[in-house]
Amino acid sequence: MDLKELKGLGPKTLLKLNNNNIYTINDLLYFFPKSYIVYEENIDDFLLCNNTTIKGVVLSNPYILNYRRNVKAVIFYIDYNNQKLKCLYFGSDYLKYKIKKGTFVYVYGKYDKKDNEFYTSKVFIDELKDNIEVSYKLKDVYDYVIKNAINNLFLMGINIKETLPQELIDKYKLLDIKKYIYSSHNPLNKEDIKQIMRRRKYEEFFWYSIRLERLRYERNVYKKPRIIDEKNINDFKSKLPFILTKGQNDAIDDVINDIKSNIPMNRLIEGDVGSGKTIVGIIASLVEIMAGYQVMVMVPLEVLANQEFDVYKNVFNHLNIKVELLTSNVVKGRSKILKDFKSGNIDVLIGTHSLLSDEIQSKNLGLIIIDEQHKFGVNQREKIKKKYKNLDALYLTATPIPRTLGLTSFGDLDISIINEKPKDRLTIETKIIPYNKINGLFKFALKEINLNHQIYAVTPHIEDGSEAISIKEAYDMLTEALPNARIQMLHGKMKNIEKAKIMQDFKDHNIDILVSTTVIEVGVDSKDATLIMIFDAERYGLAQIHQLRGRVGRNNLQSYCALISNDIDNIRLNKLEQLSDGFEIANEDFLERGPGDFLGTNQSGFENLKYASFENDMNIWSCAKEDGEKYFYKYKNNEIESDIFDEIIAIKDQGSLN
Ligand code: ADP
Ligand code: MG
Repeated sequence: MDLKELKGLGPKTLLKLNNNNIYTINDLLYFFPKSYIVYEENIDDFLLCNNTTIKGVVLSNPYILNYRRNVKAVIFYIDYNNQKLKCLYFGSDYLKYKIKKGTFVYVYGKYDKKDNEFYTSKVFIDELKDNIEVSYKLKDVYDYVIKNAINNLFLMGINIKETLPQELIDKYKLLDIKKYIYSSHNPLNKEDIKQIMRRRKYEEFFWYSIRLERLRYERNVYKKPRIIDEKNINDFKSKLPFILTKGQNDAIDDVINDIKSNIPMNRLIEGDVGSGKTIVGIIASLVEIMAGYQVMVMVPLEVLANQEFDVYKNVFNHLNIKVELLTSNVVKGRSKILKDFKSGNIDVLIGTHSLLSDEIQSKNLGLIIIDEQHKFGVNQREKIKKKYKNLDALYLTATPIPRTLGLTSFGDLDISIINEKPKDRLTIETKIIPYNKINGLFKFALKEINLNHQIYAVTPHIEDGSEAISIKEAYDMLTEALPNARIQMLHGKMKNIEKAKIMQDFKDHNIDILVSTTVIEVGVDSKDATLIMIFDAERYGLAQIHQLRGRVGRNNLQSYCALISNDIDNIRLNKLEQLSDGFEIANEDFLERGPGDFLGTNQSGFENLKYASFENDMNIWSCAKEDGEKYFYKYKNNEIESDIFDEIIAIKDQGSLN
């Protein structure tokens, strides 16, 4: 059946649905609500300052308060458990006329302990009618349009194809597909929501596991083993300006063994910031090049590509190995680079993810290195696998993956861990600084600048109206306190070229203080940087702060990290003061609070999961992982009806389910 045959959907509405990527009946059924709000009284949630509903008697008629231009609040007081509570409602004034002194109201919102105020987002007069609100947050389409359309489909007795093996549905008592989809749009109570989410998370993990298994299965391709020139490699190692750490040497051995073997390398090198992963990639490149192969090095940002290019050029130039840079900024000479890579005149090509585009062809590509790999989802690996079936692949990451999470979640990747830093590194002194002591910090900053050192100042990414310090505010504070310093702002909204120029200026030490949002997180390298100030530090994930902190201390100078926060007893920040090893922090934090907190929501390394998370749903993952492995082989061996698998795997191949 076609979407347009559905009652009540006119051409205009159809167009709007299309604009929200809803084209078919299936798209509609699987367009799950963005949120379910359960209006239920809960004193615990109230005290924890979570969203909740409270009930009370209105103590006086509401009035309107003007905060700023365009910002008005309806204010009213209620008696909540024999306490007078001030409620603020930012929204239409109309509420003022609805709420009457002496009546009962249900107020939904969040309690602010500090000011003893209740931030109200919804008010029910007299009774809670629909106590679950389903909200789709579609562009230009009202929720009821979706709801009606879906209910019509169910009234017509629509058939929906089951997407999980029946055996598994029985085993875990999951909702069957029809009930699942129906309830997803019309949950009746909390239990319904729980069951919906159970199935949704399980199913997402199940297919994730199938895909991992498929990646692993597809590793059983063969490549030509490379012929290794051990003497030359050892010679190269001995001429390095430093002595490799044991961790580096072990990782290099793992890599060389992989390259020697007849199965393509697929290895993740995990090592804290500054542990020296780059050299592992360089040696891997050298091995391949000496065996007659070409190499690609892929990094997430153009600035990093420039940086990586400098490093590779420096080590390789005198060896008669040709290194080139190809990013979208490279316009002049682009076609020559493409031609030379194709003909084999270029040995190493460095760039961003555009290296995966079809424009790029090689003569004899042997290795792809993906540096600063923060995300470990299967998407990118599937893409790379698809294009380069029997290529060696090396992933480098500084994101510490808690041990317990580690191995289970990558399926096809082998892992080497570099768990030590070069010997001459000093520990970065880390300290929480409350805002009332910030002038002392600025004085210290001036001292560092006078020693010819550089400084990073980082502010959180914030939405408008948030209380956090903005990049501009930090910039102003610093400019006022340090009028003679060369201070520059850098933020995500700037053009790439502009960003690249500023970062280069910082590297060239034409800037003393770089004020930025977390743009710098992924590895700008300036050896003179000795101090990083992190504003509103309590707002970051620990992993993120740890990464940021890695921007300083990149040589033998004593370096410092100031965590600016009034939350001086913050357990997590205290941990950063005490521990300097990212992996130790990760494990500790994981043990105490689960990895979600460590990785932070948007830090989470697994990009393409929408509902389930490795951080919070480990139990579901362990079941789904095992089932996925088993069913992938049943499918491969034709033991089960396979059309769901064919279909879903095909869709995932096109990437449209991500
Ligand atoms: P990351 O693991 O964060 O990518 P890099 O590879 O960029 O770290 O190394 C950081 C710095 O340490 C670089 O300047 C690099 O030359 C240097 N380095 C790497 N290995 C060693 C070592 N064994 N001894 C001393 N310095 C090293
Ligand atoms: Mg690096």
